[in-house]
Amino acid sequence: MRFRCFALRRPDGRVVLVDAGIGPADAPSASWAPVPGRLPEELAAAGIDRDDVETVVLTHVHTDHIGWAVTAGTPYFRNARYLLQSADLPRFAFTGELTAAGQLDLLDGDSRLAPGIEVIATPGHTPGHQSVLVHDRLLVTGDLLVHALQLLQPTIEYAHEMDPALARTSRLAAFGKLGAAGNLATPHLSEPFVRLPESLAH
Ligand SMILES: [Zn+2]
Repeated sequence: MRFRCFALRRPDGRVVLVDAGIGPADAPSASWAPVPGRLPEELAAAGIDRDDVETVVLTHVHTDHIGWAVTAGTPYFRNARYLLQSADLPRFAFTGELTAAGQLDLLDGDSRLAPGIEVIATPGHTPGHQSVLVHDRLLVTGDLLVHALQLLQPTIEYAHEMDPALARTSRLAAFGKLGAAGNLATPHLSEPFVRLPESLAH
């Protein structure tokens, strides 16, 4: 399985990071996921300084999505606001550190981040799962889907969804926000970007 984050570089150079990946060797995901994650190296390779990250959208609080949010007790992205849906707060490992730093912003539902960049609530996988819609043409999904089969049949459930029926509703609704040429950016499919099948677009 792949584990990806996505960086959206805005015209002024500031960066929105969607998810914070598999963390360092001592991260909470060490019990099951391949540590250490390579997010710092991947950001450097993309020419992104961590201090240019102005927003970190955490799609949900599972450990393969929050790994580099906080390291050694302090926020890894020193200049960033971290956005989390409040429904996921009770199970978030880094509430204390981010609150102490004044860097945690809680959302309740959809929110416009910047021109053309919207956070949309997509609950089901977790109660506070969220995705990011870019200019209605790209959906950074988080774990809204985890297998390519869900592109052929989006009603197929995934064993680790906390509320499978709600996840299905969120999946179909979010896909429907994309037009026929829409693309998905997914953390876990074999390819980072996939075209949404036309039958699922609005
Ligand atoms: Zn995941």
